[in-house]
Amino acid sequence: MDKHQVLRHYFGYDSFREGQEILIDSILAGRDAMGIMPTGSGKSLCFQVPALMTEGITLVISPLISLMKDQVASLNQAGIHAAYLNSSLSSSQYVKALAYAREGRYPIIYVAPERLLTEEFLDFCLNVRISMVAVDEAHCVSQWGQDFRPSYLKIVDFIEKLPKRPVISAFTATATKDVREDIIDILMLQDPAVVSTGYDRPNLYLSVQSPKDKYATMKNFVERHPGQCGIIYCLTRKMVEEVCGRLNKEGFFATRYHAGLSDAERRTNQDDFIYDKSLIMVATNAFGMGIDKSNVRYVIHYNMPKNLESYYQEVGRCSRDGEPGECLLLYGGQDVITNQMFIESNQDNQELDPITRKLVEERDRERLKKMTYYCFTNDCLRDYILRYFGEYKENYCGNCSNCLTGFETVDVTDIAKAMIGCTETSRQRYGANVIMDTLHGANTAKIRNYGMNENPYYAVLSKVPVYKLRQVMNHLLLKEYLSVTNDEYAIVKLTQKAGAVLNEEETILMKMAKEEAVISEGKENR
Ligand code: ADP
Ligand code: ZN
Repeated sequence: MDKHQVLRHYFGYDSFREGQEILIDSILAGRDAMGIMPTGSGKSLCFQVPALMTEGITLVISPLISLMKDQVASLNQAGIHAAYLNSSLSSSQYVKALAYAREGRYPIIYVAPERLLTEEFLDFCLNVRISMVAVDEAHCVSQWGQDFRPSYLKIVDFIEKLPKRPVISAFTATATKDVREDIIDILMLQDPAVVSTGYDRPNLYLSVQSPKDKYATMKNFVERHPGQCGIIYCLTRKMVEEVCGRLNKEGFFATRYHAGLSDAERRTNQDDFIYDKSLIMVATNAFGMGIDKSNVRYVIHYNMPKNLESYYQEVGRCSRDGEPGECLLLYGGQDVITNQMFIESNQDNQELDPITRKLVEERDRERLKKMTYYCFTNDCLRDYILRYFGEYKENYCGNCSNCLTGFETVDVTDIAKAMIGCTETSRQRYGANVIMDTLHGANTAKIRNYGMNENPYYAVLSKVPVYKLRQVMNHLLLKEYLSVTNDEYAIVKLTQKAGAVLNEEETILMKMAKEEAVISEGKENR
């Protein structure tokens, strides 16, 4: 059978999707390959089709037992013999599976990375022909990736032990440039064919709001989408319980999912959602990996997630069938604090040596910062995300809350100057709140203790409301006139760009929603 026949015969599809053919052809030609494609775009087919057309066994390395089970189940359903080898098998099941595999029963075998270097498994591999190794969720190999798994580093050692180097392919949905390079380096891919099908999901409407009453805003949104399925992501289990409970009390069909529930309840709730018994899934980020449900019409983030990788993966579960879908992020200042606490208390990091730990925490703070700026930017949201992932497009998408807001451009140079000046004269030692309080003229013990009431900029912007000051501060951070240190103190520092503002060489314009444009009054009243 050729690849089109395999596609039709086993999978029942008429044509390949974007990127699939290039990767399949490359693998079939014996060339390494790397596919960077969003969730749901059909990465598995890229190694499954060649596996069925090549002699020998294809090993698929996958990090999650549930993912392996799902994939093996659907392959078996399609009449393809496949098996998985992981810790969910008893030792007698494991031995049996290996025995079948030795007889050449399975063209495709899913294996957990932890198994690779075990004696039994190596012995097996040395006595059969392993023609291909496909690494699923390949970003797990990178320390810079969001779910680094040390066991992924064993893959190369394993491959080096094989008598003949197999064709290696790697697949991931999330890859910034660093991670991409890491995958190629660490897995030692040889001149791989790289396909990146792009991150843009033009059918998703992206929006950010920071409402006073999140629950009311969320409820209002849900009411405007009767009969539609949606996911509401919360940062904590407690929040999941609260939101889900309240929705149910008010007559919505909501269910919940988080790591604190029993396996049985999680399975039931997940099924209820998948089979439309519960329309609304309220969950932590524990929910979603490996879920194939195409008619999720909205994804609400009740809290800002820890980084854009998570955010985009989570909104990626919206409208996978290509129909219009809506994504709403409800930002609140507390979200930043909660995420910061998560970074500091991350159990995974506690085990690291102090130097690595500091590095990892800094990286996470940097990511959190980029996520936070996403909530503040008045530029195109889609553009912001795509740039973050290294993709550059025109910057007007017409399908995000910023593109659809009538903004006014306001000159905030004077405020910016005061902020930069205040930062400079206080010798770049304080956080954003101290700077803003000083400018606003707060008469607090903290300000007096720091001697900021004697700062030449004290109270020069007393007429500008604090929330406006915060907007300008965010703008200066976003546009890199100021920066914030990545440690727990978050101290405001000047950047190279700041000098030009103080020297009157630069005007700072800022887009503001129309009713907020009154900020310029502050200047005149000063
Ligand atoms: P990923 O691993 O990229 O998240 P999957 O491999 O799980 O995505 O595929 C997502 C869905 O798309 C699956 O239901 C799969 O059967 C389907 N699919 C894959 N390739 C095609 C194709 N060429 N035509 C139609 N559907 C496809
Ligand atoms: Zn836009």
